[in-house]
Amino acid sequence: MIESDHRPSYIEVQLDAIAANLEQVIEPLPRKTQAFAVIKANAYGHGAVTVARRLASQVAGFCVSNLDEAFELRQAGIEHPILILGVIPVDDLHLALKLNISVTLASLEWLELVKASGQDLAGLAVHVKLDTGMGRIGFRDWSELEKVLDLMSEMDLEFEGIFTHFATADEEDAHYFHEQLTRFKEWLDRLPELPRWIHASNSAASIWHADTVFNMVRLGDVLYGLNPSGRTLDLPFKLQPALGLYSELVHVKQVEAGTFLGYGSTYQSSEIEWIGTIPVGYADGVVRRLQGFHVLVDGQYCEIIGRISMDQMTIRLPKSYQVGTKVTLIGREEDKEITVQEWADYVGTINYEIVCLLTDRLPRKHQ
Ligand SMILES: *Cc1c(COP(=O)(O)O)cnc(C)c1O
Repeated sequence: MIESDHRPSYIEVQLDAIAANLEQVIEPLPRKTQAFAVIKANAYGHGAVTVARRLASQVAGFCVSNLDEAFELRQAGIEHPILILGVIPVDDLHLALKLNISVTLASLEWLELVKASGQDLAGLAVHVKLDTGMGRIGFRDWSELEKVLDLMSEMDLEFEGIFTHFATADEEDAHYFHEQLTRFKEWLDRLPELPRWIHASNSAASIWHADTVFNMVRLGDVLYGLNPSGRTLDLPFKLQPALGLYSELVHVKQVEAGTFLGYGSTYQSSEIEWIGTIPVGYADGVVRRLQGFHVLVDGQYCEIIGRISMDQMTIRLPKSYQVGTKVTLIGREEDKEITVQEWADYVGTINYEIVCLLTDRLPRKHQ
């Protein structure tokens, strides 16, 4: 997708905030813990390469979700360990080996296909994934894992790590979390030898179950200044929001009472009103459900009125403002702030989804 540089809508990313958030989370963890920054999906919309460069001196490695995301980092000259968290296509494994990228091994069937593909993968680093209760990918059966360990040594793969993923680390009730943790520990006890990296904790587990991390944590959401539980659990420290979304007024007009605005004429002015148009819309990830929510202009909340279009939306202004006046969709103006979490609450989703939906069309400006 082409970044639209020639229009006044953009994302601003505070790299110092991301670095400071990382420090906050790892500070209380046991000393032996190494952090891997999860920068899949373009670092949750924050710009993967730039974030990786900024965090390079603070983390032991990076996690991404697929091979292309790993390539992007290698092409940018990032030499850290990279772990791909998802299952990658069998035939592409030689590419992972060539670029020194670690892959996830989650089933015997997949490994048998790898073997049948005939690639020479000696030395390929793998992290074995256990499904202790997430139910997505990973081994659930010890006898299958035993066969895999044998096959791995036969194929001369490097058993570099073992991991699992928690389904409920961000919830108040820790019952299921502990069931998963117990299962993971049981599997570890049965292994004839432990690999270098043992990891289970995402952001939520690292924050609220810091006593149960192994020797590596996989930190995503929290790095970006977001609470992985939404509003369910309080953070033990203060995070700094890392992302702002800004635009400006490109058109300002006064309308008569009774004027309809936008597709479907869902809004009708009730009196003489000042209306501003902003060049940003659902094609940027400003989803239509945000109709009725607000933006900030001149330190004041202004309602988003009428339907949000693909590239434009309208707001009700308290008075006339000049074309070119700054509009804050996410961020702070004076004493008022609009957060990613508020968007998520309004739309009925989680903060993760909001930042991931901000499309590549919006230029990322890093500070
Ligand atoms: C995305 C992901 C993470 C990071 O989760 P956060 O909640 O953002 O910290 C960790 N582990 C796996 C397997 C993931 O897919």
